[in-house]
Amino acid sequence: MSIDIPNQYVEVAIPVPMRQLFTYQLPTKLHSPKVELGERVIVPFGARQVIGIITKVESECDIPANKLKNVLSRMHSSYNLSAALLQFLKACASYYHHPMGDVFQQALPVLLRKIEPPKIMTPTLWLCHENIDQQVLTTLAKKAPKQFTLFELIKTHLGISWIELRTLGFSKTLLNALKDKSLIVEQEQLAQQFIWQPESLNQKNKLNLSVEQAVIVAAVNQSLEHFSCHLIEGITGSGKTEVYLQAMEQVLAKNNQVLVLVPEIGLTPQMLMRFEQRFNVPIYLHHSALNDNERLSTWLAAQQNKAAIIIGTRSAVFSPLHQLGMIIVDEEHDSSLKQQDSFRYHARDIAILRARQLNIPIILGSATPSLESLQNALSGKYHYHQLLKRAGKSTLAKMALIDVAQQQMEHGLSGTLKHEIKKTLERGEQVLLFLNRRGYAPAINCQECHWIADCQRCDKPFTLHQKQQLLICHHCGNQQRIPYQCPSCGSVRIKPVGHGTEQLQDRISELFDGYSVVRIDRDSTRKKGELAKLLQEVSDKKHQLLVGTQMLAKGHHFPDVTLVAVLDVDGALFSFDFRAAEQMAQLLIQVAGRAGRESKPGKVLIQTNYPEHPLLQDLVNNGYHHFAQHALIERKQALLPPFSYQALIRAEANYPSYPDKFLRSLCLTSFEGCEFAGPVPAAMEKKAGKFRYHLIIQAKSRKHLHLGIHQLLQKISSNDLQKTVRWSLDIDPQDLNW
Ligand code: ADP
Ligand code: ZN
Ligand code: ZN
Repeated sequence: MSIDIPNQYVEVAIPVPMRQLFTYQLPTKLHSPKVELGERVIVPFGARQVIGIITKVESECDIPANKLKNVLSRMHSSYNLSAALLQFLKACASYYHHPMGDVFQQALPVLLRKIEPPKIMTPTLWLCHENIDQQVLTTLAKKAPKQFTLFELIKTHLGISWIELRTLGFSKTLLNALKDKSLIVEQEQLAQQFIWQPESLNQKNKLNLSVEQAVIVAAVNQSLEHFSCHLIEGITGSGKTEVYLQAMEQVLAKNNQVLVLVPEIGLTPQMLMRFEQRFNVPIYLHHSALNDNERLSTWLAAQQNKAAIIIGTRSAVFSPLHQLGMIIVDEEHDSSLKQQDSFRYHARDIAILRARQLNIPIILGSATPSLESLQNALSGKYHYHQLLKRAGKSTLAKMALIDVAQQQMEHGLSGTLKHEIKKTLERGEQVLLFLNRRGYAPAINCQECHWIADCQRCDKPFTLHQKQQLLICHHCGNQQRIPYQCPSCGSVRIKPVGHGTEQLQDRISELFDGYSVVRIDRDSTRKKGELAKLLQEVSDKKHQLLVGTQMLAKGHHFPDVTLVAVLDVDGALFSFDFRAAEQMAQLLIQVAGRAGRESKPGKVLIQTNYPEHPLLQDLVNNGYHHFAQHALIERKQALLPPFSYQALIRAEANYPSYPDKFLRSLCLTSFEGCEFAGPVPAAMEKKAGKFRYHLIIQAKSRKHLHLGIHQLLQKISSNDLQKTVRWSLDIDPQDLNW
């Protein structure tokens, strides 16, 4: 007797840069158990076998049977993507008009994208030993303060992972020292779901909220059962983190999970520490310094409800949290939340989308909210909260401008600034010098004929790196030896032009003899663990002067820094990118936020050639909020985002005429409600040997933009030039310089 088994066809998302999904037939032997959406399957694709994700199951199919290939096998069902996550990923792909297969990859850790089944390692935790020799501990407190700090942290916790400790800047050596003294033990993490218990909260670390803070926590708590978006605009040190912690508590107490997105985890160890000290719950991290096994372990913990809190950088927005109850996006204005290549999503924006789909609250926090979020808050679309005072005793640093056009400069420092630095150092306090230019000098030139060493691939000057004895192009990474002679006139008088952080460090050391100078930028912190080490040295007061790039602007608290100097602010004042002023204002306020955190008042001095510039005046005299409101009026008048909606098409090729022609051919047709700007050569017209052009599509509503882009993509697919140019689409572009 034969049973009639209906055919089954599955639609599969495959990691290839094509916009469509692919249909396969599911052979009868694979019909049972029932196929689920979100399952991983192995399918043939060209000559290869790849992992795909099932997005649809159907019993009928228009494609003739002889054109269809079979699914080869189905994979372990514990790694399925949930229906909710599928829905989220589909919405992301459609919002960004990005190939679905590529978007789905974001939600799978590397090990689950491979055909071989992953080896699962059981995560371990460090705990305090049951019987501790008090004598050993007393000696530790006296003789080895770092080991003692680590021990204290482990003691307040019911178990903490090596990943967390490493991210907080503790070394394996420290950990082993405690283990050898039998103070701590390592245990396998129990494979159980997170359940809130009375001891999940370290009550003694909880602070009494100010009235301002309490109002926000109450507002968030009132909306736990449905979608709501809260913007907290609060100056650095005003107690935003405390608000996050207390709002999270309610969510965790219901055994729901919390996702916390931060721009860069390595830069916020103090915030992570606060989370660890407050909650005795499984916290998992998701960031780029994890290896593949660690990523898989975070993924599984999220999916199986073992993780209570996930703290991560932008791609953590895709983590498969099963019981997600709240999302927090800290530093929501930060451009690191936006991915700048391939799938160009903004983690904040899709976090809001996810919260909406799950019907849960989301909190956005920043001292300097993006104009987009601020506009949504001011118009009542988001709940708007302000924290206007610093919590505790500290007061906000005072800002002032130094007119450098009137002064004799020495190594980029004005007389006024040198005097202020000297006074601060003599009081035994620390100084932070901010210069957003790494390397020794931004260019070298010939003193005789004015030849400049340019990167041939970008037509921009090479940056001199003295320590490495190299010229490095900061745009494409191209490297060259420093020439001994000018290739143009043969002169040996080749000199650096301008200052970078490397040179500043040297000059400052000479100027302020007897004080120690530390430099914190991408070059000085390349080695693993180096950043944490340098930051520790700063808080141990081993250094009095800190020189750094925008890395220093984020997250860290330097309680003894009472003077912050911004050496060169002028670049941003005259940029063609309409967001440059906003970004400059955000950066200045963030840098200023580093100063005078405790009881000592701080001062921020900004060197400029244009002290009368209205943007600077507004920011310095009236603060960010005033500045931002003003900027919003300007944007409205100019019909720029957030009062219009943009997409950017970037095109590049070996010859300038190709991308230009390609983009020109796209704007021959008009689309309802959309306007084109361009094509124009990109700000960096040539990069790594390619010529780059931009075309902006601007629409009065998001709906118009989406319809326009949809039609445009169809046009591109039939455009012959698309074979000779590389192009990409960026919805809501943040950086027009790229
Ligand atoms: P932010 O996240 O806005 O920078 P934090 O939450 O880190 O601010 O708070 C800054 C400092 O003020 C921290 O040292 C914190 O312990 C303290 N603080 C925050 N809220 C309170 C409060 N309600 N009472 C006392 N101190 C507080
Ligand atoms: Zn020369
Ligand atoms: Zn280059």
